[in-house]
Amino acid sequence: MSEIRDLSLKESGLQKINWVKDNMPILAQLEQQFIKEQPFAGVKVSLSIHLEAKTAYLATVIKAGGANIRVTGSNPLSTQDDICAGLVASGIEVFAWYQSTKEEYENHLLHTLEFGPNVIVDDGGDLVNMLHNKLPHLLPNIYGGCEETTTGIVRLKAMDKANELTFPMMNVNDADCKHLFDNRYGTGQSVFDGIMRTTNLVIAGKTIVVAGYGWCGKGVAMRAKGLGAKVIVTEIDPIKAIEAVMDGFSIMTMDEACDDGEIFITVTGCKDVITSKHFLKMKQNAILCNAGHFNLEVSYEELEKIAIKKITRRKNIVGYTLENEKTVNLLGEGRLVNLTCADGHPAEIMDMSFAIQALCAKYIVENKDTLENHLYSVPKEIDDYVARKKLQAMNIKLEQLTDDQKKYLSSWE
Ligand code: NAD
Ligand code: SAH
Repeated sequence: MSEIRDLSLKESGLQKINWVKDNMPILAQLEQQFIKEQPFAGVKVSLSIHLEAKTAYLATVIKAGGANIRVTGSNPLSTQDDICAGLVASGIEVFAWYQSTKEEYENHLLHTLEFGPNVIVDDGGDLVNMLHNKLPHLLPNIYGGCEETTTGIVRLKAMDKANELTFPMMNVNDADCKHLFDNRYGTGQSVFDGIMRTTNLVIAGKTIVVAGYGWCGKGVAMRAKGLGAKVIVTEIDPIKAIEAVMDGFSIMTMDEACDDGEIFITVTGCKDVITSKHFLKMKQNAILCNAGHFNLEVSYEELEKIAIKKITRRKNIVGYTLENEKTVNLLGEGRLVNLTCADGHPAEIMDMSFAIQALCAKYIVENKDTLENHLYSVPKEIDDYVARKKLQAMNIKLEQLTDDQKKYLSSWE
């Protein structure tokens, strides 16, 4: 049983999945290992991550390990219908389609969980929320789960603190092989992929405002600078603000930045970072996009409310004309620009993030009897394993400590 848009798109989906597979060597090795060891034999796994080619390959690898698997997307605009078809053609149950309504999106989550999973792989907390709020009868089946992104972790920490978590969760985002590369280099590249594909405008010479100088913001600001833009950063954290200044960026409030900004990119995980007062201050034709969480950072709701006219200007660009007769342009409905207007992070980056996911899912199954209902850090051995495999794939060798060096480094005299 699956709910997808159009199975006849399977050839295009399979083509895309095969392309990324060739560029995800760590996952490809894990697939071979899982085929032999069958770590998920008899285990049901529900997965909710942006449903494009790399996620499809992750699902295939977990299935190869013996899992009975159901998959949905983690954002209504990032699901690719041909990928869903390709997955269904490979024997995986999928519940998702592009541009699902709120109700359809929730039903898809529900159907992904209804078979009573033992392990969940989540991205932003949708599965955890639905299980706790709407499907509590399924909670006893769950061994545990893994969370992919920063905002999902913020929510899990709050649940853990309030003792509301009813199964163990692995903090995949905090693994070094995840946030150092995915959030920074992945977001840095794929955000500009999304903006450039969609607008077909030049970046060099533009003034770009980056809201948030965390892992994603650092990557976005770095790539904006590399492409020749003038970069302004907004922050709430004094240390991050100094870091941005020392990295060569201007720090301002969003209010101040509105005077000069031409492209605005939010990556804070917070809500209402750009609101009506900012829209009304912006230059004619300013471009707005978000790469943080859902459509709350650039307030979609307020923009919809204050606009006196709204027109589609190109695919994925809506122009909103305001009472001051200026137009601001919103990309991808204010949802993650790298996934709604492009294919998300590149394969080689998701190879590391998803190797961590696959190994954490296996870790949960192996340790289900001892893990408690808390949020866990990814074990260092998993992080190191993925880093070493990545170096191997890049044919890069490391120095090895001699016994004498080890002794020297652990002595205090
Ligand atoms: P982070 O915690 O490292 O950084 C967020 C930064 O934003 C912090 O420095 C914080 O001080 C700052 N901030 C918070 N509220 C602010 C505000 N109102 N104005 C200005 N700055 C503010 O988080 P991160 O790992 O960079 O992730 C940021 C968001 O991006 C999260 O929602 C995460 O889930 C999402 N994310 C998206 C992608 C993607 O593919 N688009 C990838 C990874 C993470
Ligand atoms: N569901 C929320 C959560 C933010 S998702 C939302 O849609 O707003 C942010 C996560 O997307 C990141 O942690 C990153 O690992 C993941 N991501 C980025 N590119 C991806 C890709 N190509 N395929 C799957 N996931 C991707």
